[in-house]
Amino acid sequence: MLFRTLILKTAGSKAVQKLVTGSKLFRPLVRRFVAGETLDEAMDAAETQADQGLMSTLDLLGENVSTLEEANLGLEAYIEVVERIAQSRHKELINISIKLTALGLDQDTAIAEQNLRTLLSRAEQNNIFVRVDMEASDYTELTVAMIERVWDDHKLVGTVMQSMMKRMDSDINRLLKLGARMRIVKGAYLEGPEVAIQDKAEVDQAYIDGAKRLLKEGTYPAIATHDQAIVETVSKFVKEQNIEPATFEWQMLYGIRRDLQASLKQQGHNVRIYIPYGSQWYPYFSRRLAERPANVFFIIKTLFKDRGKSLPPAK
Ligand SMILES: Cc1cc2nc3c(=O)[nH]c(=O)nc-3n(C[C@H](O)[C@H](O)[C@H](O)COP(=O)(O)OP(=O)(O)OC[C@H]3O[C@@H](n4cnc5c(N)ncnc54)[C@H](O)[C@@H]3O)c2cc1C
Repeated sequence: MLFRTLILKTAGSKAVQKLVTGSKLFRPLVRRFVAGETLDEAMDAAETQADQGLMSTLDLLGENVSTLEEANLGLEAYIEVVERIAQSRHKELINISIKLTALGLDQDTAIAEQNLRTLLSRAEQNNIFVRVDMEASDYTELTVAMIERVWDDHKLVGTVMQSMMKRMDSDINRLLKLGARMRIVKGAYLEGPEVAIQDKAEVDQAYIDGAKRLLKEGTYPAIATHDQAIVETVSKFVKEQNIEPATFEWQMLYGIRRDLQASLKQQGHNVRIYIPYGSQWYPYFSRRLAERPANVFFIIKTLFKDRGKSLPPAK
């Protein structure tokens, strides 16, 4: 946890951001986690995964717009993604993950809701599911409440539960009541002890408990993790409880634990890869660095020594 805090704080500095985004040295590492800068590149990645039977969700990087005009551009960009997915030969294997702050949540909740409704209507015309990613804790209540508000009119929408958040159980209760789909993750943002569990073992245990609940009581949940021990514990639970593999999916991030992705697929499970792309990759990239010391050591080594010839193992 200490390492993660340190990296997230360091990455937040403007000087570090300038260094990493301005240098070509880091591009190979960035490309491990980010499929490219354009929608074409993201669709290529999704279709390549689909050829191997893997599902995808596309994430156009970029969060927290500053004006309602930008939120409108955000909506247009998401609609473009939905329409491209609709044209894919693998349409049924690909969906979209979005951020409410890209639709104007910081500026005006009502406009963000209107933008979400517009996007959901367009996605529904093509039978495409929309996942609302969960952002930092300032947005948790706004996001859960937003799903509750649109639910009567839109069912092809779901969101994300973060096991680090102390409020997770009550949020799961609220969305179970609706029958909305939930993805469970540990949580990628730096959060204080007022709202979040600080002990890693406790976050992991909350994850396992939450995942079991979703598997028993939820609607087509997504179990999103690269944590092998958790994958094993949850798999054991699935077998013991005779839960059909078709009733849920595993999710992992693009470029992380490809071996585990392939092995779950081989065992007959649904596996979806979260494919981030776009020019605004820095915040996403720094969150991934904070999750694995080897990636940061690679950066330091590159800066001081051998110009990035070898990448750390992708695991
Ligand atoms: C599909 C998907 C969607 C997500 N959506 C959200 C969201 O909406 N909101 C949110 O807050 N968070 C989201 N996350 C991120 C999540 O909260 C975690 O930050 C991230 O998944 C790392 O946690 P972990 O479960 O893999 O476990 P960790 O305990 O972080 O890692 C377990 C093991 O996984 C491997 N691993 C993990 N990360 C990396 C990495 N970057 N590089 C290499 N190996 C790694 C390592 O072997 C590590 O030991 C999402 C994650 C996934 C997989």
